Amino acid sequence: MAEEKTSLNFIEHIIEEDLANGLSNDTLRFRFPPEPNGYLHIGHAASICLNFGLGERYNAPVNLRFDDTNPAKEEQEYVDAIKKDIKWLGFKWANERYSSDYFEQLYSWAIKLIKEGKAYVDEQSSEEIRQQKGTPTSAGTDSPYRNRTIEENLSLFEKMKNGEFDEGACVLRAKIDMSHNNMHMRDPIMYRVLKKSHHRTGDDWCIYPMYDWTHGESDYIEQISHSICTLEFKSHRELYDWYLDQVVENDKLRPKQREFARRNLSYTVMSKRKLLQLVENGTVNGWDDPRMPTISGLRRRGYTPESIRNFSDVSGISKRDNVTDVALLEFCIKDHLNKTAPRVLAVLDPIKVVITNYPEDKEELLDANYNDYAEGFGSRNVPFSREIYIEKEDFREEANKKFFRLKLGKEVRLKNAYIIKAESCLKDENGNITEIHCTYDEDSLSGSGTEASKRKVKGTLHWVSVKHAVESEVRVYDRLFSDEAPDNHKDKDFMEFVNPNSLEIITAFVEPSLASAKKGDKFQFQRKGYFCVDDDSSEQKLVFNRTVPLRDSWTKKE
Ligand code: ATP
Ligand code: MG
Repeated sequence: MAEEKTSLNFIEHIIEEDLANGLSNDTLRFRFPPEPNGYLHIGHAASICLNFGLGERYNAPVNLRFDDTNPAKEEQEYVDAIKKDIKWLGFKWANERYSSDYFEQLYSWAIKLIKEGKAYVDEQSSEEIRQQKGTPTSAGTDSPYRNRTIEENLSLFEKMKNGEFDEGACVLRAKIDMSHNNMHMRDPIMYRVLKKSHHRTGDDWCIYPMYDWTHGESDYIEQISHSICTLEFKSHRELYDWYLDQVVENDKLRPKQREFARRNLSYTVMSKRKLLQLVENGTVNGWDDPRMPTISGLRRRGYTPESIRNFSDVSGISKRDNVTDVALLEFCIKDHLNKTAPRVLAVLDPIKVVITNYPEDKEELLDANYNDYAEGFGSRNVPFSREIYIEKEDFREEANKKFFRLKLGKEVRLKNAYIIKAESCLKDENGNITEIHCTYDEDSLSGSGTEASKRKVKGTLHWVSVKHAVESEVRVYDRLFSDEAPDNHKDKDFMEFVNPNSLEIITAFVEPSLASAKKGDKFQFQRKGYFCVDDDSSEQKLVFNRTVPLRDSWTKKE
């Protein structure tokens, strides 16, 4: 993979520079550090592709580290889903690690800091602590507990650990500088009391380390050379380094934090908190709802790992926040399915056509390629008979010259079959067309080699034989939000922009070969788009998801 790419992203430039300055290639080591408080989304895919991509490029190990320091929000279900998604994307981690593996080590380092006079137990409320923080332009105020003795701090911290304090009663803080110009350096909290069971350590602990205290030290324990995170942590880098200063030994590698911009996608939200809200309030049917920007939702929708990795490649790594157009993601899946998906016949909005000069009891099995334009797809038989369905929109009684579909008195070709001519149509009392009567040219069968089969007619329509068609449910998706940046409005909640019509369920008729299709199988329904078999599909009922239409109907919605 890495060899194919020629230009370096800015993170790779940083690494190249470090190598040039003497860092040895075999000390390179990376990690992907998800918090197991939700499912991975397409933004995480950027970070996964970046970190594992570096692993591939430099032939270096990449750890999967679950950042599990908040038992209130974390669950085993999320751990399992995250592992499944990374594997599905095609990446292998060197080691599976958990921040909670390091609770003991972190605790003893905290005691070391206390002993060195660099940490203290603060018994103020979080509100009081917040008020003393100061502002970016004015210094904070020292806590009245800031100068308690080392012995007192050791004993109080021990009591915290033993569960002798209630949640919120006290915290352990690093003693740095309350007037530091970086607000993160104003005596940050290292530990808080949380009397919650942890998904891995159970009730062993009732004090839990904060993100900043945990992350850098975990990187150090794992000897991660480059700890790559998103831009909001840039201002934390100074604290990351201060914490490392307290523990790094001379002969050990010192991790380096570097930041890149989050990937945002238009017409959706990405934060796990907001995605959880959509799941919990029933806007979507779970984390893997095909409308969700989650990896599991995209997989169910019919996206392939290749398309998501390619999307990451083409959208690149940036130093500045930006929004990627969801059309680029859709382009990537269309591009991949165009190369890989067999073409089949399915009618989504049927109207019946009777071929009046075709014998009533006759049936033919016609040979049809899965792809007329590429090798290796093979072929199948499709049954033809006197009554077929075509799309309602493919027939008009009258139309101008640009309408290359079926109209009265004119001919079209049926894909892989015959040329038909519309003779008349039936209507109900409201004037709606209910049935079309055509005649066919018996000698015009595609591929039969006759003069008539080579006759050029303007339009080619997809169709299915009425008596052989398989009735199926098709789920047609639209964008989940009707606004380009739903969580970018100061005065409005993102929920106000939910598109009420993001799911339309229709009954379609598909060719009989699809009866044996399996969950996850992907097809091009000719002229309509790419579809895949949904997990809800059963032997009794086929269910398809529309992954993406062939043409982008969004920009030119009629
Ligand atoms: P969220 O706000 O969606 O919950 P998070 O940053 O809290 O995101 P984590 O599980 O902590 O989620 O993220 C794991 C890794 O993925 C981190 O290194 C984080 O920086 C990165 N990451 C998360 N969201 C994005 C994104 N939208 N684009 C790029 N990287 C991301
Ligand atoms: Mg997080």
